[in-house]
Amino acid sequence: MSQQYNPVIGLEVHVETNTKTKMFCACSDDYFGKEPNTHTCPVCLGLPGALPFTNEEAIEKCMKIGLALNCKVAESSLFERKNYFYPDLAKGYQISQYRWPLCVGGSIEVTGKNGKKSTIRINRAHQEEDTGKLTHVEGRTLIDFNRSGVPLVEIVTEPDFTDTEQIRDYAKQLREIFRNLGVSNADMEKGDMRLEANISVRPVGQKELPNYRVELKNINSFRFMVAAVEFEIKRQIEALESGETLHQETRGWNEAKHETYLQRSKEEANDYRYFPEPDLPSLAVDRDLVKKLQEEARAALPQTKVDNLVKTYGISQESAVTMIRQGSDPFFEELVAKLGQTGISSQIVASMIINKKIDWQDLSTDDVVKQLKAQASQTALSSDQLEKAIDEVIADNEKTAADYKAGKENALQALIGAVMKKTSGRADAKQAAEIIKEKLK
Ligand code: ADP
Ligand code: MG
Ligand code: ZN
Repeated sequence: MSQQYNPVIGLEVHVETNTKTKMFCACSDDYFGKEPNTHTCPVCLGLPGALPFTNEEAIEKCMKIGLALNCKVAESSLFERKNYFYPDLAKGYQISQYRWPLCVGGSIEVTGKNGKKSTIRINRAHQEEDTGKLTHVEGRTLIDFNRSGVPLVEIVTEPDFTDTEQIRDYAKQLREIFRNLGVSNADMEKGDMRLEANISVRPVGQKELPNYRVELKNINSFRFMVAAVEFEIKRQIEALESGETLHQETRGWNEAKHETYLQRSKEEANDYRYFPEPDLPSLAVDRDLVKKLQEEARAALPQTKVDNLVKTYGISQESAVTMIRQGSDPFFEELVAKLGQTGISSQIVASMIINKKIDWQDLSTDDVVKQLKAQASQTALSSDQLEKAIDEVIADNEKTAADYKAGKENALQALIGAVMKKTSGRADAKQAAEIIKEKLK
């Protein structure tokens, strides 16, 4: 009988956070689709003597991400230089974090195959900077430094994944968290969010981690990631079964051939010679700020948002989930606030948004308020209809009417209630009260 193997997988996710300026200079962070090399300065071009300074907004966004993933924010944190040579990195080193990351030790629950829930430990969420972008055309390579120095957060998990459903769920949850926190659009096609997986397999029952791992790099969709990891698990098991020894290496994904291919073996692995960045001060983290960010992070978490909508507006869980997924929940909240006491229930507003009866993507809430009020006045009762309804209610409730005549004030409320019910809430309660009083004088 052949040996059974279990996959061991750890993920590294990079996300570009959207800030006004780049991580260590004053260049605009809004570089996507812009003329090459127009968003640059001596700092992000890596010119000699240029001095970096730290972007506070980026640091706060990194902390928010860490807090949303249940990490602890360090008391203090320090940038380090990760040294390597590549043309997209003009300085010859990337400013990153290594021994003193900003956020450490988090966790997240994921759903895997057969709906099984498990906990993935987050090792760290640290701050670094993006590199320039290389484009290869007709045997030449072009460099665009607009992306150089854009704030980049790296989130590293422990090797806790055991199947690709968990990976898909994790990546989706992360994307939702980034969007809810407002720290990134996390658009994989634009490279806002990038995934790397480390994969090994071990015999069932083995406790120690395998002494090798294969790193899958440059994968730009959830679907390719899942396919590449599935392929790699199979490839590694087959290799071990045929007696091969596996080594540490980096592989890429060939979508056309539907297979992974070797990019770099361990012999060529980098030694980054990390050392503290001498041009930047260490970060001392303000605990009150952490507390504030913690609350914001919690409020943006998908489940917390659902709970809050349900509790605040009395709408169904399902409606809340749908609106959050659509991104229509801020519109809903604004609209409900503006509608105020018009008697249109929050659930009806939610249903109208979900069923596209309200065009929340193209209209402003003010437009919609006008529309709904106009509709409501059209469906209001004519005074003839109201009088007829009141006559019927009095006829159907002789005893209550008699009670009111005999001086029982709360009998009036019962009659008004009956009128509202009969008219499906379209009657004006005040007007109804006047008419009832008149009739029972
Ligand atoms: P590096 O600095 O080389 O990227 P890390 O220690 O940061 O190395 O680990 C990178 C990723 O590899 C982490 O997500 C970790 O969980 C994962 N990993 C470590 N060992 C293994 C293993 N044996 N199999 C699969 N993944 C692993
Ligand atoms: Mg790493
Ligand atoms: Zn710059």
